[in-house]
Amino acid sequence: MSQTSRCAGDCPPFNRLGLNYDSEAARLGPPPIGIIDAHVHLRGAAAVAIYGGVAERFGISQSWSMTPLAEVPAVREVLGDRVRFIAQPDFSNPDRLHTMGDGFLEQIDAFHALGASIVKFWAAPRARDLADEAGQADLMNLDGPHRQMQMQRACDLGMAIMTHVGDPDTWFETTYANTMRYGSKRDQYAPLERMLDRFPVPWIAAHLGGWPENLSWLDGLLTRHPNLYLDTSATKWMVRTLSAHARPAFAAFVERWPGRILFGSDIVVQDAHLAASGDDTARSSQASTPVEARDLYASRYWALRTLFETDYNGPSPIADPDLHLIDPKTWGESDAPTLRGQCLSAPLLRMLYRSAAEGFLSQLGASLKQEASEVQVLQPLPPQLEDAKGCH
Ligand SMILES: [Zn+2]
Repeated sequence: MSQTSRCAGDCPPFNRLGLNYDSEAARLGPPPIGIIDAHVHLRGAAAVAIYGGVAERFGISQSWSMTPLAEVPAVREVLGDRVRFIAQPDFSNPDRLHTMGDGFLEQIDAFHALGASIVKFWAAPRARDLADEAGQADLMNLDGPHRQMQMQRACDLGMAIMTHVGDPDTWFETTYANTMRYGSKRDQYAPLERMLDRFPVPWIAAHLGGWPENLSWLDGLLTRHPNLYLDTSATKWMVRTLSAHARPAFAAFVERWPGRILFGSDIVVQDAHLAASGDDTARSSQASTPVEARDLYASRYWALRTLFETDYNGPSPIADPDLHLIDPKTWGESDAPTLRGQCLSAPLLRMLYRSAAEGFLSQLGASLKQEASEVQVLQPLPPQLEDAKGCH
């Protein structure tokens, strides 16, 4: 790994190691196939242009983005066919009852008209707090009446569904310690499983289904629901958690579920990353110049590609405040976990990076005519492909 002195002594939390991410991208070389990043949040034409350059350097050929409806044309103008869009509610509207209710139906229609083929339903435990603020406790329940109406609309339009149900185990031990209010981690899955059966379109459960800490739980979930796919988005969470599994647990998991695990980063791109906010505490995890924005976005692709492709075993360049959250005596807020490369083989990388996403898209529309049990699932890799080992 090449070190630079660009930030000696004062490295930002997205580049603790002072890496030159351009050199690092060249050193990694092109991935075995152009990567589809199934989970990003792109907004702001100037920042998206910077993101586009980073994505190209790291071999990302297409990004699926949650972008506010009004910004879809501008983002498309920058990235062309390198971007697809995922429908989301209009979060800028303070009338949350409308935004998460009938207003979302209108947004789904409008996104569909612009070519979007996936609808995102965010249902993290803290959605309960937002629903209470809006004055309707079941407003954002994944199996609540509003969400079911919106899911039906997605199905009617031949769209797929993306959802976020779990958060890190660390949050359930801290932020969500009040299980009377938020439920246990396992409680988050009952509504998801009901909806997976009720709406048998292809689903992506983001952040490895919200439970990368528990691969055997995910095995059960994927077994019970053939229409379920997972993405690897939330870079810090994935780096911390997948590095902690004994190798080759994650490679074996990807191999057990051919075509069901999609690459995703959860990179958030916005013009606010290009200028100082005036708030000194905003040194936090955000960028405040175009150069920093480039490093912020690059850090996620560097970390994920290093995690999946290499045998790197060393500090992550990205600070992870969750370590401090759970164990403040051991970890400072700007500490980072060990990143342990998982050495996926080239065939597994090609599946994770691209063919799983292509298979997912190929299910759209066709699955509407099928029962959940009939949704086509990609077959395991033929044995001759398994000889190509990773970096061992
Ligand atoms: Zn996200």
